[in-house]
Order: sequence, then structure tokens, then C-alpha cells
Amino acid sequence: LLRRAAIISTGSEILQGLYADTNARYLAEQLSVLGVEVVLSAAAPDHPGELRALLEHAAGRADLVVCSGGLGPTADDVNRDVFAAVWRVDLVRDERAVEMMRERFRVRGQEMPPANEVQALVPAGSTVLHNQWGTAPGFFLPPGAGGVGAPSSALLALPGPPKELIPMFDTLAKPLLCDRIDGATYVRTRTIHTFGRPESELGALTRDLFRRDPAVGFTILAKTYGVDFRVTARGGDRETVDALLDRFERETLERIGPACVYGFDDDTMASAVAALLISAGVSVTVAESCTGGLVTKLLTDIPGSSAYLRQAVVTYANESKMRLLGVRPETLRDHGAVSEACAREMAEGARRAADADYALAITGIAGPSGGTPAKPVGLVFVALASPAPTVCLERRLLGDRELIRLHAALTALDLLRQSLRAAQG
Ligand code: ATP
Ligand code: MG
Repeated sequence: LLRRAAIISTGSEILQGLYADTNARYLAEQLSVLGVEVVLSAAAPDHPGELRALLEHAAGRADLVVCSGGLGPTADDVNRDVFAAVWRVDLVRDERAVEMMRERFRVRGQEMPPANEVQALVPAGSTVLHNQWGTAPGFFLPPGAGGVGAPSSALLALPGPPKELIPMFDTLAKPLLCDRIDGATYVRTRTIHTFGRPESELGALTRDLFRRDPAVGFTILAKTYGVDFRVTARGGDRETVDALLDRFERETLERIGPACVYGFDDDTMASAVAALLISAGVSVTVAESCTGGLVTKLLTDIPGSSAYLRQAVVTYANESKMRLLGVRPETLRDHGAVSEACAREMAEGARRAADADYALAITGIAGPSGGTPAKPVGLVFVALASPAPTVCLERRLLGDRELIRLHAALTALDLLRQSLRAAQG
């Protein structure tokens, strides 16, 4: 049975800091959810000696070694020879893999270079994972399939590009692994997304949940904006595990209150807002300065957004704020464009112009320049006009330009979310 896993990423570029090892993170997450403990994660350069030493170490520590990258056709792709040496097996040619590669070239009107054929070589005794997303096949060498004196651990090898590795792991490798993972453990994770309250405060409110139950991992994760709770439960069957997740979710919500929770698992702030807009049957419009259309982008990332988004305007010039939104010249003269008064008039003007139920407006200073002592970088006003009196939030956000804009956009969406929640009662 597979209980302990090692993750080995290969590629000198990872060790030179040229790209981040996102495969390791993906694999670690997936294996953990399957109930396999990851005991080691490391990267090796494209150097046979280094890779061999690391693989031998990993195979001594784990029942399963998962290796990403280095399966390409070029001279720096050394992995398959090293696998064969460490597990003491021959490489054999997989005809179906050759055929699939030829076909990939053929549909592009090209002939396969002979160099690619080497990619169809896999360790004898392995199950080939045929690659529909790229050229190099992956493979799974089951536990104990190595030659005399070889490590008994299993080897799973996957190509490096995440666009290939992720679907291959998900559709081809996972089923093979599941057959060999202790059937008595069923593992599921639930994420609770919150916005607008600091990690320290949420952590203090939920302190007693952290080590409450050995079958449940309860963690808190501060992202650059918002805080997530992650609950991972293990048990003998799905019902037990789901009941544990439900109980922890309920207890978390009791302690922190439901208002700051905008969703679970794959929900986003925008999807939460979209769902509320649709269920209330109301429309929205957006007027953006500072965020350059980001609120609109987030809202329109959700398919079917024309059901609630009427129109949106991006106004940077004072002249445009006046002409398109009806902001008064006196407001701009007396308070400036980055002011509560301007945000309010932008929202109210946008709502009128679009004949929408709700209107969000943002004005602020995203930086890095343009700040003054009275109006520093990060000062943002977010207003919401609706059938109820207009409300406006003032925030002093931290971070670089990108972060300030994202945080401002999410603050606006959350303001709308809170208002829709309140209207629904
Ligand atoms: P190819 O046939 O594309 O050469 P390969 O299996 O040989 O595939 P590598 O050469 O190691 O894979 O990596 C190819 C590309 O995949 C890298 O340039 C990088 O963009 C991406 N990649 C590789 N390993 C990782 C990783 N661990 N995390 C994220 N991206 C990766
Ligand atoms: Mg390569």
C-alpha cells in the first residue's frame, strides 16, 4: 500500500529560480487529499548523477516517488535513463505512444522528428500513461516491479508542463494510485472563504477548533486579501467525513458569524455576488476609476453575466466623470476626484445612467505615484447606490499597485454582497 510519497521535480531551471515549482505544490495537495502523506519534496537539476542520488534517497524514504519533468526529447531530458538505472529495469518502446506522437505531428502537417521516438521509451513493467495533452507519455511503475536489488517503491513519472501534468495526474494516474491507497481512509477538504476581517481576529475566535479532533485538520490561511479556513477530514466512508466537515463548518460559522463568509471551495467573491444578484433578480452597473475595469472584469468572468450587469464605465478624466456620470464640478473642485463626495456622485450618476438597481463606484490612488500626505497611495473610496440611501466606505489599502487595485475591487464587490444579503433578510 502507498502511504508515504516523495515528490521530485526535475529541471535545472527550477534550481536557478527561473520558474516556480508549481507542479510540486499541485502534487502535494492532490496526494494529501488522497490520504498519502508527503514526506519529502525536492528538485533535482538535469544532471544524471544528482538526480540518481536524490531518487535513491527518496525511494528509501517513501512508498511512492512522483517525478515531474525531464521526459522531453532533448539532451537535457535525462530522466528515463536514470529511472531505468535506479529501478534496474530496461527501457522498452511503447508502440501506442509512438503512434500517438506521430499523429500529433501529422495533424499539424508535419513529420515527427526521429528524436521524438526516445520519448516512447518506458521502464519495462510499467503502465504507460498516454498523453493526449502533449507528446511525452508518463508511466507508473508499481511497487516491487524493479529489478533485483532495486528499491521496492513505486515510481510515477509525469511530463513537466503543468498543462500536461495536471490532466494526466487527474485522469490517468489518480485511478492507479487509488487502487493502492488504504481503502479505509477517505479524505475530503472544505475551504471557507472570508473577506474583510483580520486573520488574528478570526484565529482567536476559532482557537479551540484547531486541535479538537485528530481526524480533522483545521487550518487558517491568510491570503493577500481575505482569509480562508481549510478543513480536512479523514474517515472510513464518505458519510462520516462529510458529517465532520459539516460540523466544523457550522461551528466555524457560529464563531465568526456568517456575514464575512462569502463562499466555500471554488466560490469566488464575484461568483457569490453573481448568485445573489440572480436570486434577487436585480441589475447592477459599475463606474470605475482606480481599478480600470477590474470590478467589471471580475463580474464578467462569470458566464451569463449579462443577466445582471447592465453596463459599466471607466472614467479617469474629471471631464468624463462629469459628462458620463453627472459628477458636479463643485464636488471635484472642493473635494477632488478621490473623495467620498465624488464616489457617491459617481455611484448615483452611474445608477441613473444605466437605470440599474445597484451601482458600484470606485475612486482612489493605486500608486506608486500620485499620493500626498492628505491623500496617500492606497486611499480608496467605494460607494454603493441602490434603492436605499447611498453608502460609502473609505479604505487605506496597503501593497503595490496591483494589490491595491485587487483589494479595492473586492472591497466594492463585498459591499454589494453585504447589501444584497441584508436585502434578502
Ligand atoms: P518537454 O517535452 O516540454 O520538454 P519535459 O517533461 O521534458 O517536457 P521539462 O523540460 O522538465 O519537461 O519542462 C518543460 C516546461 O514545463 C518547463 O520549461 C516549465 O515551463 C514547465 N515545468 C516543468 N517542470 C515544472 C514544475 N515543476 N512546475 C511548473 N512548471 C514546470
Ligand atoms: Mg524538456
